[in-house]
Amino acid sequence: MGIIVSSIDYILNNARANSLWPLTFATSCCGIEMMQTVASDNDIARFGSEVFRGSPRQADLLICAGTITHKMAPVLLRLYEQMAEPKYVIAMGACTCGGGMFCDTSYSVIKGIDKIIPVDIYLPMCPPRPEALLDAIRKLQKKIKSETILDRKKFVDSHTSNLMESKDILVLKQKEQQS
Ligand code: SF4
Repeated sequence: MGIIVSSIDYILNNARANSLWPLTFATSCCGIEMMQTVASDNDIARFGSEVFRGSPRQADLLICAGTITHKMAPVLLRLYEQMAEPKYVIAMGACTCGGGMFCDTSYSVIKGIDKIIPVDIYLPMCPPRPEALLDAIRKLQKKIKSETILDRKKFVDSHTSNLMESKDILVLKQKEQQS
């Protein structure tokens, strides 16, 4: 029985890893580098991830490229929740990973999207080059191939509580209710 389950996991994981469909989502300058990754010079299609989708329901990879503000956080959370399971996240750029250059100077920027959604791969540069994004996708593919559905569930569950308790999200929800 164990052999059968392992074989099914192996086949499904390989299929998932080699056909990641990213959501079209970028909020600032890192988005330009993400677009460049799709161009022929870098050719993200080599890794099966060229099918950028306009709808979160048709995507299973969120490449969060750019600054996330408090105002944007509920939108990001909603898009993530609407994505197909199992879903994966790459935090692209220093701003997404930890606030970047706005970390100490801006009141409006969230200091890391892991306060809102679970992150699989961090790519902290300003901006990351297309080659770096391709490397992040390769690392994510390796991760997907090595984990079982139970591993995935544990990973996501361990972040759900952080997400619900996030101070940023609670403040935003309170503001939404008041308006
Ligand atoms: S990390 Fe740099 S390039 Fe990316 S969004 Fe922030 S300031 Fe722009």
